[in-house]
Amino acid sequence: MNNFEYKKAGSVHDAVAAFSDNTNVFYIGGGTNLLDLWKYDLTHPKTLVDVSLVSDEIEIREKEDGGLCLSARATNAATAYHPLVEQRYPLLSRAILAAASAQIRNMATNGGNLLQRTRCHYFYDSKVPCNKREPGTGCPAKEGRNRMHAILGASDSCIAVFPSDMCVALAALEAVVNVEGPNGKRSIAFEDFHRLPDDVPEFDNNLHPGELITSIDLPSEGFAENYSYLKIRDRKSYSFALVSVATGLRLEGEKIREARIALGGVAHKPWRRRKAEQHLIGKEASPENFAAAAEILLEGAKPYKYNGFKIDLAKKAIVRNCMMALNPETQRPGAKPSA
Ligand code: SF4
Repeated sequence: MNNFEYKKAGSVHDAVAAFSDNTNVFYIGGGTNLLDLWKYDLTHPKTLVDVSLVSDEIEIREKEDGGLCLSARATNAATAYHPLVEQRYPLLSRAILAAASAQIRNMATNGGNLLQRTRCHYFYDSKVPCNKREPGTGCPAKEGRNRMHAILGASDSCIAVFPSDMCVALAALEAVVNVEGPNGKRSIAFEDFHRLPDDVPEFDNNLHPGELITSIDLPSEGFAENYSYLKIRDRKSYSFALVSVATGLRLEGEKIREARIALGGVAHKPWRRRKAEQHLIGKEASPENFAAAAEILLEGAKPYKYNGFKIDLAKKAIVRNCMMALNPETQRPGAKPSA
């Protein structure tokens, strides 16, 4: 029997104060990943602080600067189907709906989505070594079953990938993550929120101890005219991405005025490379130019024994997704696909 204490926080202040009280405290929102980790004996909370009812932030609201603020406690489903998200940030809506099952999206929160852990099967098997779970024990994935693993930004310590779909769109949209912790509030640019493994793969992100995600800001530019999210996976649903691509384009006639391309399923964080996007500025929106950008985006990609196919797959997926972004008709905003 694992005894633990359960506290309901009525406000962010209460939640952060509860964290400060104890050393083995976990915030819980929807709990869709935390309970898995707990059941697999990978995490051992002594206190759970339920933040699903904190009342500080309206679920989704328009900001004075023209952007949108998503509460961290809003569910993924409520976010994806919110009219303002569907109309102004359809890329985000499509990415969320490509993830998990309807049941999980109904429970999972926006804050929790950013904090989910890798699905590397060695990480979930407590009988084998894993640097992310137990630093210094080794990484069996490097020589083992690594079909799902990273081709970009990996290290000798860890080749895991970050599994979120939502975060790939948030990276392309250049969202900002607002947090509050024992030392106050701060805002983190989305590209600085998650981290590459380097030699400390136990840390997935740059949060400080006790910091709680309170909301996510979306800038006013939502790429609502030309966008696409493409997820390539082994089966059509309930599966994590082998490769995913979020594309937002701003066009002026036939030419590209602004481009955002983010990849999922290839690295320890959503993968962007400004050089690839800048390469497209002022150029015609053509398969040839998108292919050149894909080459830049995949520069330095390193395959392992079973995942070399991902390099070519990612390049082809980028070209296909950018071409899909040219035709908003293919995106069917507001469509609610079954899980
Ligand atoms: Fe652990 Fe990372 Fe290696 Fe997977 S890839 S076994 S999470 S160290």
